[in-house]
Amino acid sequence: MLDEDRVRADTPGCASGSEPGVVFLDSAGSSLPPRVVLDTVIDHLRREAEVGGYRAANERLDDLAAVKTAIGTLINAAPSSIALSDSATRSWADFFYSIPLTAGDRILISEADYASNAIAAMQRARATGATVERIPSDSSGQLDLDALAALVDERVKLVSVLHVPTNGGLVNPAAEATRIAHSVGALVLLDACQSTGQLPIDVAELDVDALSATGRKWLRGPRGTGFLYVRPELVEAIEPARLDLHSAAWTGPDEYQVAADASRFEFWECDVAGRLGLGAAVRYLLELGQENVYNAVAARAEHLRKALPEIPGVTVRDIGIRHSGIVSFTVDGLDSVAVRDLLAEQNITVTVSHAGSTLLDMTGRGLKSVVRAAPHCFVSFDELDRFVAAVAAL
Ligand SMILES: *Cc1c(COP(=O)(O)O)cnc(C)c1O
Repeated sequence: MLDEDRVRADTPGCASGSEPGVVFLDSAGSSLPPRVVLDTVIDHLRREAEVGGYRAANERLDDLAAVKTAIGTLINAAPSSIALSDSATRSWADFFYSIPLTAGDRILISEADYASNAIAAMQRARATGATVERIPSDSSGQLDLDALAALVDERVKLVSVLHVPTNGGLVNPAAEATRIAHSVGALVLLDACQSTGQLPIDVAELDVDALSATGRKWLRGPRGTGFLYVRPELVEAIEPARLDLHSAAWTGPDEYQVAADASRFEFWECDVAGRLGLGAAVRYLLELGQENVYNAVAARAEHLRKALPEIPGVTVRDIGIRHSGIVSFTVDGLDSVAVRDLLAEQNITVTVSHAGSTLLDMTGRGLKSVVRAAPHCFVSFDELDRFVAAVAAL
């Protein structure tokens, strides 16, 4: 069980001091970090100002290495299979743009896929003569495994599986989809941006070839952080599309050698304070326990999924069978942006997910936008009820 009082006391944003207090429901966008993350980042920025960024980083080499160790523990992977970056999209693209594609190759994307992934897939298809096809969803709204099985053949080089979409509570059957993709030798790149930090993630169990995630959402890390996992047996087989003097070494006038581990997907320069903050965020989550956090998030999301539909005119838009901590809804006669702004006047933070972020899914359901409420474990049930009452009063 999670100690809610402790988690709230650890979160400076929970005690805003203003009246009415904050009801923070945007952990799917950019969450509230625990104090240890804030302190870690600020302390390092101060140290950089005192002695310069190079010396400050050299003083923290062990702690920097520990960031990957912590992430490895979180997702059950070796630290050497993790590459740090500045966002989930960067990590996704670092892997995706490094996969060789030729004319006739097929890329499959999920119906719930994220705009940035779909755009990259279309760009590469145009450049290489590959095609981009969508995996349909089944009647529940989740990725249709039978349709995927019927769709795959040896020309499928990469399957983009979207674990938890940005616009609602769906959790796709990632492990099952991966088994089907592997049956024809296709690689699976899992977008775990919205699942990492709220659902326990085990890459060995999922068996995906690569996974991308961000720091600022459910992990509660700093902005400008993210990471890529690449299956260890695959790392050396894939030469990144772009290299620098960190991802490779200049070994002779006409020679370079690419790093043996996943750091081949990293560039040298980085936000050191942000990385240390990400490490602190992951360690904090490990301390709380992934299962405990998941249960707390699920209980809060379930509370909203029960209460919101009881309000006349409110429709919860979540699809699928298994649900995540993202609850999306619409209010009859009110634009999602207006809902967000009216709630903001009462210090309640929700966000709007527009059709352009998940175009296939949203247009398929005739939705232009949804209001997104994403409660993390630090949100109290009283706060959830205040939010529900505020929606009812709109
Ligand atoms: C937010 C999000 C991303 C992008 O994450 P960045 O860190 O902003 O690059 C990718 N996929 C999904 C499903 C997301 O919700």
